[in-house]
Formats: sequence, structure tokens, C-alpha cells
Amino acid sequence: KDTVLEVTNLVTKFKSADGLLPAVRGASFSVKKGETLCIVGESGCGKSITALSIMGLLPSNGKITDGSISFNNQNLASMSPKEMQKLRGNDVSMIFQEPMTALNPVFTVGFQIREPLMIHQKLSKKQAHARGIELLKMVGIPSPAERMNQFPHELSGGMRQRVMIAIALSCNPSLLIADEPTTALDVTIQAQIIDLLNDLKEQLDMSMIMITHDMGVVAEIADRVIVMYAGEVIEEGRVEEIFENPQHPYTKGLLSSVPNVDDPDFELKPIAGSMPMLNEKISGCRFHPRCPYAFEKCFSESPKTFSVTDKQNVRCWLQEEVGQNGGRRASSL
Ligand code: SF4
Ligand code: MG
Repeated sequence: KDTVLEVTNLVTKFKSADGLLPAVRGASFSVKKGETLCIVGESGCGKSITALSIMGLLPSNGKITDGSISFNNQNLASMSPKEMQKLRGNDVSMIFQEPMTALNPVFTVGFQIREPLMIHQKLSKKQAHARGIELLKMVGIPSPAERMNQFPHELSGGMRQRVMIAIALSCNPSLLIADEPTTALDVTIQAQIIDLLNDLKEQLDMSMIMITHDMGVVAEIADRVIVMYAGEVIEEGRVEEIFENPQHPYTKGLLSSVPNVDDPDFELKPIAGSMPMLNEKISGCRFHPRCPYAFEKCFSESPKTFSVTDKQNVRCWLQEEVGQNGGRRASSL
């Protein structure tokens, strides 16, 4: 299948009193047409910064310092803010966690959905209104014509997120990036929004990047998964591979912290310790302070990436041991 997005060795840094600190340290991954890629990891792992780097929406003290982001064969990492703005209105869209994106409280839903249609799609106000109603219908909002005249506070959190999705879809994006879109919603609404995104992706033949810390969401929506830790991609694979045969100790930890409703004896085992701060210097594997399997080499040498299957790769020295017996090979990373 065609590759829509190819991120190669992305490095994004933040200016601080301590100098330039890397939040993303050489991430590489791709998204194919019609595919949903989940980027998973704890808060602070660099997953949101990766998305904002792709969108050209980094805060003013953040900067891409290395690597390339190829979207339909254009390099986004070297585009001007103006070109990026055009791209965001036409080809890629992003939705955020609900409170962050809170629609502008002083304007009606109709105003906020018409505006991008008039600016980017050059529709007249009347056409934009009709298209807005269509979009609200498409995201499952009942009585869409009446909703157009309402203000954001008159809608529930789930309905507001549906409006945000409608606005994101107004540019007919070929790639939709969703950053924790259901985290602020209650469980039932969360499931409805996930179903909606799954349906829309199929219907509109979009690609999607879903950013989440929740392995339950990953199970519902992903085709492929990348796991990030402290700015690095530490494992990637098909969703079945990640759930059935996780290799990285961190991935295994994330999976064992998902409650198993079928198992009454299940114990919630979150990974002990926390993500390092951006300015913390850690030698060797950046996970070693939290890793129950760390051995000598892990303290001094940054792990190579090893292939487990043609789609599954893992960045951990334990694979080298397997390699000697099982024939796994280190890739060039
Ligand atoms: Fe643990 Fe070592 Fe693997 Fe890092 S490289 S995850 S410290 S075993
Ligand atoms: Mg985040």
C-alpha cells in the first residue's frame, strides 16, 4: 500500500535555561494509506510533540533540528509556516483532548464550522452552512440544523468532541491526527467516539494517527503501533504482535497495566518509577533506571533496533541474546 507519511530520524528540541533539550530523539515511522497507527506511551514520552512537529504546531520554543517528515512526497520539516497553514486547511487535520480544544465559547457551532469551509474551501456562507450541516450529520449529531445555532456550552463533552471532529474533517484530510481525543470523556462516550473515528476512517479512506496512553484504546483502533519512551521509539509492530508477543520490557509493562475484566485475580501492575525529565542525562538505554531486566551493557550502550518479524522491531539489548540463538538481526539504527 502507498505510504502517506514517512517520518525519518525526527529530532525535536526545546529551548530552555539548560540549553536545547531533545523531546524527540530520532523517531522514524511511517503511515500507509487507510491505516491507523497508534503512538502509545506515558505522558512526557514525546508522542504529542511528535504530532505537533508533523502539524507544524510546535510552541515557539520548540524546533525540529534534524530528520525529515515526508507527507505525500513533500518535506514538512522544511515548509514555511504559511505553506504549513495551507496544508493544515487542505490535507492534514488534528483533534485534541476535549478541554484543550474547547470550541470558542462566544461563537455558535455554525460559525465555527462555516469559517474553515469559507477560508480553505472557498465556499460561500450559504454553501458552508449546508456543508456544515452535512458534516454534523456525518459525525452523528442529531438535529444538526438546530445545533448550528447553539453555543458550545449548550453541548455535552461528547457532542463538542463530535463538532471538533466535524471541523477537522471539513478539509477532507487524507491524514487525521488525534491526540488523546477521548481521555477527558467518560467510558461510554469514549467508546462511541472511537467507533465513530473507526467508521469515518473507513468511509473516507483516510489514514489516522491516534495518540494515546491507553492500551484499551489501542486494541480498539490500531492497525499498527509504535511505543515511545523518553523521546525514542522503543518498539513497533502490528497490533496483534504488540499484544500477543511484546518484546520490550516497557511494552510488557504497559500491557500488564491494562485491567483484565475476565480475570478476577488480575493485579494492576503499573511500571515502577517515572519518565526521565528532558534535562536528565541517562547513559545507555534510557529505560534502564526502570527496567527489571537491565544488565551491564544497558548502563553504557544505547540499544540497537532488532527485527523480530518483518513488521516488528524492538530497541532492547535483550534481543541480542535471542539473536545469537534465534537469528534476529540488528537493523542499521
Ligand atoms: Fe531493559 Fe536493557 Fe532492554 Fe533497556 S536494553 S529495556 S535496560 S533490558
Ligand atoms: Mg500529550
